[in-house]
Amino acid sequence: MDWLRRIMAGRYGTDQLSIALLVVYAVLYLLAQILRLPVLAWIALVPFVLCFLRMFSRNTSKRYQENIVFLRYWNPVGAWFRRVNARLKDSRTHKYYKCPKCSATLRVPRGRGKISITCPVCKNEFIKKT
Ligand SMILES: [Zn+2]
Repeated sequence: MDWLRRIMAGRYGTDQLSIALLVVYAVLYLLAQILRLPVLAWIALVPFVLCFLRMFSRNTSKRYQENIVFLRYWNPVGAWFRRVNARLKDSRTHKYYKCPKCSATLRVPRGRGKISITCPVCKNEFIKKT
């Protein structure tokens, strides 16, 4: 592995944007295979090549700035995916309600019948069936 360390010395390496470019490549390539579009497979090479150019780049500050810009757009999307995934995971055991007063999301256990829910944010009380 010493040869790899020597090659990568002073180079940028991987970050979230590089991984995202690889995912875009994989999705485009799979679509090209499914839809039988060889042109799309060639277009898919663009993010693939970009990923490797970024990894081997010596201009690390520029690559770092690109990743910061990418994360500024990606973080809200990633947070949304994590929230939806968490909801799906415990949808059998918990139910989600929105507080009618402050619209905060509240998570309550399922199967408790009619219960009074107190919003922890605004202390508003409302009755729901769980
Ligand atoms: Zn509330």
